[in-house]
Amino acid sequence: MKIIDRIKKAQEEGHPLFSFEYFSPKTAQGMVNLQDRIERMCHLGPAFVDITWGAGGSRPAATIEIVSNAQKVYGVETCMHLICTNNPTDKIDKALNEARACGNQNILALRGDPPHGQSEWTACEGGLNYAADLVRYIRKTHGDYFGIGVAGYPEKHLESASIEEDLKYLKEKVDAGADFIITQLFFDVPMFLDWVKKCRAFGITCPIIPGVMPIQAYASFKKNTVDASVPQWILDGIEPIKNDDQAIRAFGIEVGIKMTLELIQGGVCGIHYYTFNLERSTRLVLEGAGLISKTDYIKKNMPWRSSFDEKR
Ligand code: FAD
Repeated sequence: MKIIDRIKKAQEEGHPLFSFEYFSPKTAQGMVNLQDRIERMCHLGPAFVDITWGAGGSRPAATIEIVSNAQKVYGVETCMHLICTNNPTDKIDKALNEARACGNQNILALRGDPPHGQSEWTACEGGLNYAADLVRYIRKTHGDYFGIGVAGYPEKHLESASIEEDLKYLKEKVDAGADFIITQLFFDVPMFLDWVKKCRAFGITCPIIPGVMPIQAYASFKKNTVDASVPQWILDGIEPIKNDDQAIRAFGIEVGIKMTLELIQGGVCGIHYYTFNLERSTRLVLEGAGLISKTDYIKKNMPWRSSFDEKR
């Protein structure tokens, strides 16, 4: 099923949906762990799960394998990321055909970052220039079979000169045939809601799904917020506990719940969680925000415990 149809259904029913993003691990053991985790997290009821395409075009087979398992074995709707970096169109054709063969019907079409060792973007030989070209290419080669998402940047893409320039190219991606937008992670909810208004004023009318990263470690928080504006209340909360991993995770859950509730109040159609391949924080954010029930999760994943609890 296409994600855009899921979004429309959730909107008709009047509730927001949620989805999870995973990246392909580098080791065989990492793959096993991730597949187990995806299977467990499917019981939380995500509308879909995203699998990233390795930076620079690395590990395409791993992405396809995870997509295939999630789609066919765990029965969850998948969205496969696909990038232009180091991906000439014959490789893009192969990836799209493999995605189709395993029942996947959703692609997040991306340009990708410059190839390893290069500071400036250049397309590879036989490749495409921008995400908009990839959207057009997918529509040309596969018609309406795939639902297509594209990336949006509430604080603008690093290479864009201004928000206006960024919105011009975002609109080009949507006009080329994208159905929905998933955003880069951010922490400033009012800034995001303001950016959505700018998108609408610019004529970008498709659903926009905000990307939320539950903070799980101080180091990764710092790494992922180098170019992001972080509200003062988050900085004030996190700095004094930066050496206490447990306290950081608890604070991250608190921040995730607050952001989720504010976004829902702001009228978003759904929330996309950057899980960083971990389960606990995202699950507790969903529970805390009332989007899932702890009892249901225990019944599905730990049947021995629910029958024990019922007897008490
Ligand atoms: P584009 O939309 O093509 O834009 C790239 C830059 O070019 C922007 O500055 C834009 O303004 C400019 N531009 C666009 N069109 C034109 C034009 N016609 N002329 C001049 N300039 C133009 N990376 C991975 O490697 N793998 C992943 O799985 C992955 N998943 C991601 C998921 C999300 C939700 C997000 C937000 C990012 C993801 N990325 C991933 C990172 C992404 O590949 C980089 O941010 C990349 O630098 C830009 O990709 P894009 O699709 O936004 O590019």
